[in-house]
Parts: sequence; structure tokens; C-alpha cells
Amino acid sequence: MEREAQLSFLELQGVSANYGRQEVLTDVSVSIAKGEVVALIGPSGSGKSTLLRTLIGLNKPTRGTVRLAGETIGYDQAKSLRRAREQFAIVFQQYNLFQNMTALRNVAIAPQIVKKRPKAEVEAEAAKLLERVGLGAKLGAYPDELSGGQQQRVAIARALAQHPAILLLDEITAALDPELVTEVLDTIRGLAAEGMTMLVVSHEMAFVREVATRVIFMDRGRIVETGSPKDIFENPQTERLRDFTAKIL
Ligand code: ADP
Ligand code: MG
Repeated sequence: MEREAQLSFLELQGVSANYGRQEVLTDVSVSIAKGEVVALIGPSGSGKSTLLRTLIGLNKPTRGTVRLAGETIGYDQAKSLRRAREQFAIVFQQYNLFQNMTALRNVAIAPQIVKKRPKAEVEAEAAKLLERVGLGAKLGAYPDELSGGQQQRVAIARALAQHPAILLLDEITAALDPELVTEVLDTIRGLAAEGMTMLVVSHEMAFVREVATRVIFMDRGRIVETGSPKDIFENPQTERLRDFTAKIL
């Protein structure tokens, strides 16, 4: 059982989801092992963000099951959902930091308030996390004193403060000026090297090629192809993936 849970730490089977009556995710099945970095690629509107939102229960699946560490998540059961949400941390394109708080407080606030952990302890941990994302010198800085790339790294540290089993990243470099993208990707690269399990939506194809253990190509709410970066970029099996890579590379 333990071994099975390791082999497929997160497992989606036939997951579908709607916005209103419109189905935007259809029959998605994926299995992710611990330590994998799975990249989710595909055209705008193909359902990548919806997939992440569905995992954390912001959209409820209309069909299918999601298993995490061998346990099926009950999206209609508050307790099961709460337990699952503790294992996922998500970082969005918009970092949404608290403007009136320092970098350190932005990272420490949730563990302190939500988990009711001692302030000194969470602040010491927040300082370490900020060091880990290369911001050891900016603990006392407010968001408006930081660059976009630095703010996004604070958001990553904030997500890590939750001790997630899986980190979900949704186009976290998309709003950044090109010269700031590298520092954020370097941070993700570091987390990958440390063995962090991640599901990453990204348009940075060079980065996906280098860091992803597996790539999933989605189109119109479905998984169209999945494979190693080499398979996906050098040997696409479908016209849709060929079109997509031709446009983006
Ligand atoms: P991606 O992240 O791949 O660009 P999304 O998951 O955001 O795609 O969107 C998938 C589909 O769902 C699109 O057709 C989009 O228009 C639709 N959609 C996304 N968000 C909403 C929403 N809040 N309400 C209604 N439809 C939505
Ligand atoms: Mg999106």
C-alpha cells in the first residue's frame, strides 16, 4: 500500500469539471509520483487552470475520482477536502501579497493564524524559506519595495510555509518582465532538485524541457498527449500537438 501510494502519489481517474453547464474538463486521468515535476502545457482555454482549481476543490469534479496518498478526496465532505487542501499549495500568476506586511510577515501569517503556531517559530521558519528562495536580505521589505520576480518568490516561500506535499504553479512567470523570469525559474529548478513534487503550468518551453520529468499536453479540456519532454517536443503524435509546438517554439 505504502509503495503503491509512492508510485502514484496523486492519481486522477476520469475527472471532468464544468463551469455552469459547460464542460471544460473531460475525462482527465493522470498519475503523479512523489518527486515528479509534471508540466501542463496547451493552448489558452484548454483547461490547465481549471484542472488545478478542480484538484483543490475550487471547482467540484462532476465525474471521476482524485486520490491523494492512496485516499480518495471527498470534494463534498468538508473534512476530507480540508485535509486534501493542506497537502496542496498553489501559486498563481498574480502573487497577491499583503501590501501592508513585510516579506517575512507575508510568509509567516498563515501558519501563525490558521495553524495557530507560535509567532517566533513561524517567523524563524519564514526567514529560512525566504533564504531558500534567495531573499534572505529582504525579510523586512514590503511588496512595493520588491521587483515582480522577488514578489513572486515571496509567494513561493509563502506556499512552502504550508509544507505542501505537492506544489501547483499556474503560469507564475507570465506576468513578469523577461529579465525577471530567470530568477523565478531558478527557484523552481532548485525546488525540483530538492525533490519537491510539482504540477506546473508553464509557457516557458525551454524550462519545461529541462525540468519536467513528464509533460502533459491538453487541448479543449482533454489530455491529448503525455510523455517525456523529448517525446512531446521531438516526436509529437498528434496534429494538435504539432500545431501547438510549431507556434510556441
Ligand atoms: P487555461 O488555463 O488552459 O487557459 P482555463 O482552465 O482557464 O484554461 O479555461 C478552460 C475553459 O473554461 C475556457 O473555455 C474558459 O473560457 C472557461 N473558463 C475559465 N474560467 C471560467 C469561469 N470562471 N467561468 C466560466 N468559464 C470559465
Ligand atoms: Mg490558465
